[in-house]
Amino acid sequence: MAKNKDNKKENKKEKETPRKAKYGTFVCIRWVLSRMWQWDKSLFLSSVLLLPFVVITYALGLYTPSIILSSLQTSQDFQDIVLVIFLLVGAEFFFNLVHQVFARLRWIAESRNANRFYWEIEKLDAKKDYFLNFDEEYLKSYERVGQVLGNGADGSPGRYMIRFFDMAANVLCFVLFGSVVSTLSPLILLLLVVGSLIALIPKRYQQDRDFKERDERNANSKKLDYLSWRLSNSLHAGKDIRLYHFTEFLDAKMHEVIDEHARLVRRQQRHRALPAYVNFAVGFVRDVLAYLYLIRRAVEGSISPAEFVLYFNAISQLSGFIDKVIDYFGSAHEVVLGISDCIVYFDEPRNRMNHGPGIPLPKGRPLSVEFRHVSYQYPKGEKNVLEDISFHIDAGEKISLVGLNGAGKTTLTKLMCGLLLPDAGEILIDGHLLQEYNRDELYTLFSIVPQDYTILPTTVAENIAFCDRSQIDEKRLWSCLEMAEMADKVRALPKGIDSGMDKQYDEDAVMFSGGELQRLLLARAIYHESSIMILDEPTAALDPIAEDTIYQRYREMTKNVTSVFISHRLAATRFCDRIYLLDGACISECGTHEELMASGGKYRELFDVQSQYYREGGNTDEAEG
Ligand code: ADP
Repeated sequence: MAKNKDNKKENKKEKETPRKAKYGTFVCIRWVLSRMWQWDKSLFLSSVLLLPFVVITYALGLYTPSIILSSLQTSQDFQDIVLVIFLLVGAEFFFNLVHQVFARLRWIAESRNANRFYWEIEKLDAKKDYFLNFDEEYLKSYERVGQVLGNGADGSPGRYMIRFFDMAANVLCFVLFGSVVSTLSPLILLLLVVGSLIALIPKRYQQDRDFKERDERNANSKKLDYLSWRLSNSLHAGKDIRLYHFTEFLDAKMHEVIDEHARLVRRQQRHRALPAYVNFAVGFVRDVLAYLYLIRRAVEGSISPAEFVLYFNAISQLSGFIDKVIDYFGSAHEVVLGISDCIVYFDEPRNRMNHGPGIPLPKGRPLSVEFRHVSYQYPKGEKNVLEDISFHIDAGEKISLVGLNGAGKTTLTKLMCGLLLPDAGEILIDGHLLQEYNRDELYTLFSIVPQDYTILPTTVAENIAFCDRSQIDEKRLWSCLEMAEMADKVRALPKGIDSGMDKQYDEDAVMFSGGELQRLLLARAIYHESSIMILDEPTAALDPIAEDTIYQRYREMTKNVTSVFISHRLAATRFCDRIYLLDGACISECGTHEELMASGGKYRELFDVQSQYYREGGNTDEAEG
């Protein structure tokens, strides 16, 4: 109990102490600048070029009125005065115009960049080794980099770079305006700076509190997104929502989350109100004191009207620059933390497969597979899914993998293609360790019909070939569709192989049934002409006739490949050369169908249970009893 209390205290402390950034400020600035130069030169250049124009525009705004006033007072020549006004106003107009153009270009570049950054995160995630999907540390860094982008206006490195240049412009303007004010009186400069610093105290307090409460707000936003997405966008959920009367249940949940959201926003606004009032009050006192001093100097006659205008301008704008500079420095920790999280995600090596050059790839022929004492446990799993497994599949052999649900069949195939890495033991393809091959080249050796498949929002042809339409070998594509028993169906479609496959993306897309999709996946696997084909329950959604046709064509489909066929329908294993039965985390039986039946083990038991319903006058009494 006491321990529990201690843990709670520690968790609270951890929550309240802002996390330290892994990388320092300079590393972070260098990273952002070099990445932006790499990713988006137009954003980089428009930000750099904008800087002098911003500063010069402010400088002209500061000096122009007092110079004009001064020339009106001192010069008698009409033409001289017109020339001065024309030059100054013209210069201000020109610099302002260029400033606007660069700002607009930067805005366009930035909006493109934010999307691009989002894609860079996802692209990198897709390129990382698959097993990192189960790695706590990687998942945390993925979530954090997502939160960086989720911070809205301050999100992507592009925005960080813009902040960096904006801060540089503000510092330069502070130096310029501050040096003007200091010629009036260094004490006034001090007053303005100290006034801003006083206003900062409650603001910093509020920022820290805001930061600490971020996790709570993130968790609430996640729930809000998830529930509203579930309610409105999911076709599958739409069915369940209606049939199981989910709506009332979701409605109650949604109200809870909405109320919680309102409470968090109310609390945030309450915390923000005090610093805003303090800032306003301190700013008012600060500026009034500075103006009173200025007016006194003007009344005394110790400064000219032109100087009065110059100082007035400088004082009125300086506080704005000080506030912004302080604001930038005040939020520096959060910015550095965000960039540091990006560096951790983008630049820290985590992959363990071979991403460099590998040994030459044995292509165009079936390949052997060997497992040597392989064990594997999912990082969050409680025990080994596979334990000390050893077996050999000859090149070209047709293997069937059977076992109860959860026996580890899918896991075994993921290990075979290098999506997962064994905790112990070795896996060899064509006599070489998986890691000896370049990872991406290795993947081209496999074609797979998985249970959890992905259909992209594109056409039938591109979903099968996974390449641009112009590069698709149409003849081969049609022969694969024939083999998978889908040619007639696709031929009958108005757009044939160019029919879309995702209704949410393309209104004219075709809705294929589960069985038809499975046959398209089969066509995809055949099209890719790999060396090893893995079929994980490829006929689970097929009707008996389509299933029978696939079984009959199986040898033809897998003519030049090594194949692994997973099915819970044991009759399907008969056309394979050998059957492996997975049970209790290891291969408990191995042989042909006849051999396993004769041995009278677990395979026989499973086969008998399954086949009793197919036998005429099957043992239905037992089932009922
Ligand atoms: P099969 O294909 O034979 O039905 P799987 O290989 O899918 O079995 O799963 C084997 C075991 O591993 C199951 O007990 C399953 O719950 C567990 N498992 C699968 N994926 C994960 C995961 N990501 N994390 C933890 N355990 C998992």
